[in-house]
Amino acid sequence: MAVHVIDEANRCLQCKKPLCRIGCPVNTPIPQMIKMLLDSQISAAGQMLFENNPLSLVCSMVCNHDKQCEGHCVLQRKNNPIHISSIENYISNSYLDSAEIECAPDNGMMAAVIGAGPAGITVAIELRKRGYEVTLFESNDRIGGIMRYGIPEFRLPKTIIDRLARKLRQTGVHLRPNVVIGPSITIDDMFRDGYKSVFIGTGVWRPKKLGIPGESLGNVHFAIDYLKNPESYRLGETVVVIGMENSAIDVARTALRNRSRNVTIVTHSKKGQARETELEYAKIDGAELVYGMSIGEINKTGPLFYKNIFDENDKVVGKEKEPIQMSADSVIVAISQGPMNRLISTTGGLYANDKGLLITNEFGETTRKGIFASGDVVHGSRTIVEAVNSSKVVAHQMDRFMRGLPFEVVAQDSHEREPLIP
Ligand SMILES: Cc1cc2nc3c(=O)[nH]c(=O)nc-3n(C[C@H](O)[C@H](O)[C@H](O)COP(=O)(O)OP(=O)(O)OC[C@H]3O[C@@H](n4cnc5c(N)ncnc54)[C@H](O)[C@@H]3O)c2cc1C
Ligand code: SF4
Repeated sequence: MAVHVIDEANRCLQCKKPLCRIGCPVNTPIPQMIKMLLDSQISAAGQMLFENNPLSLVCSMVCNHDKQCEGHCVLQRKNNPIHISSIENYISNSYLDSAEIECAPDNGMMAAVIGAGPAGITVAIELRKRGYEVTLFESNDRIGGIMRYGIPEFRLPKTIIDRLARKLRQTGVHLRPNVVIGPSITIDDMFRDGYKSVFIGTGVWRPKKLGIPGESLGNVHFAIDYLKNPESYRLGETVVVIGMENSAIDVARTALRNRSRNVTIVTHSKKGQARETELEYAKIDGAELVYGMSIGEINKTGPLFYKNIFDENDKVVGKEKEPIQMSADSVIVAISQGPMNRLISTTGGLYANDKGLLITNEFGETTRKGIFASGDVVHGSRTIVEAVNSSKVVAHQMDRFMRGLPFEVVAQDSHEREPLIP
């Protein structure tokens, strides 16, 4: 065992009111996990973590720990919080392959899950545990959603997602890859074929446009398209990334690992929108960060910017008249994603808000009876742990719906609710 994991575990104060746990969106029982590790109950600790969050291993690697568990740890006040993510990583990594997911006997009912990202995986596991026959439909050839096709390998190795896929198959979830629900198979087909309820966890995959001249040129790409398969791009030596969110940082760091030499990330504001540590990593990897520039157009030479003018509150109040033309072999637009509308356009009674996000009630049911949704397609671009947390609640309500029970008011905040035991 890595020595620092034990050292870190030994430093934990086992607080009576653990702030670390309050900082975790999925309420991970952190002090218990640490105690079990020190008591040589690593397998039981792994099981506890997996049951609370089937993506515990992933979360131990890509959650924003500084703002969540570790940022809330009482020892953060002394600038020396427990390295909770390393402890969780050690336990969950040891446990995943041996994990036994106990499923109730088959209850004779079928549920469909559309989208095999964090939301869909969570719902599939939760419903399988309750004895449903679950089919998971995924438009890509593999499961994982953004975990596989967005977050780069150097932050989250794909083998972890493969190990999760094996677990899903072991539980008896039917996987249907390479099926885009909407154009061919529709949700109405699913109800016709006997599914009692349908879950939508399709995320946000439509790149947001800048809406400026030049976006359709051959030297311009969108972040989410590039990250899906960077090997199929030849970006050239010099790349400009527009936007400074986390996905922009992933693009820049990936490009630098794929033969691009000069990568510049540009934002309109005075500070980046990505996590501080991600910005630091980008700099360490060799990217240049440029602030306070508004994009005017993209042409064959590269992007053309105008310098912003800020007031004393760092609000943009105008821009300078003289344009600044940058040279770049490729320009990547990384200003977030919105949802596709393939399901809305093919499913009567399913409605979205003005951002295209699915409308649901507090129980996760959409505007059409028996169809539920959670994750990014409801909340917009968020995080893996939030998708897991909200999807656990929605799976619980789907179970009640299929058993003919009324919905149950359950606190959305994981700290305020009782454990959701099947
Ligand atoms: C580049 C990038 C980096 C990120 N990094 C982090 C990070 O470090 N930490 C973090 O916590 N969060 C991160 N996020 C956010 C996080 O990945 C998402 O919040 C999370 O994946 C949302 O889960 P989801 O299941 O709702 O959607 P997704 O992960 O988007 O999964 C949706 C799935 O549905 C499938 N699908 C879509 N339409 C259909 C259809 N019609 N039929 C069948 N299948 C369909 C898609 O192919 C996909 O597999 C990042 C996001 C991006 C874009
Ligand atoms: S807040 Fe920190 S010290 Fe207290 S239980 Fe959590 S990890 Fe341990």
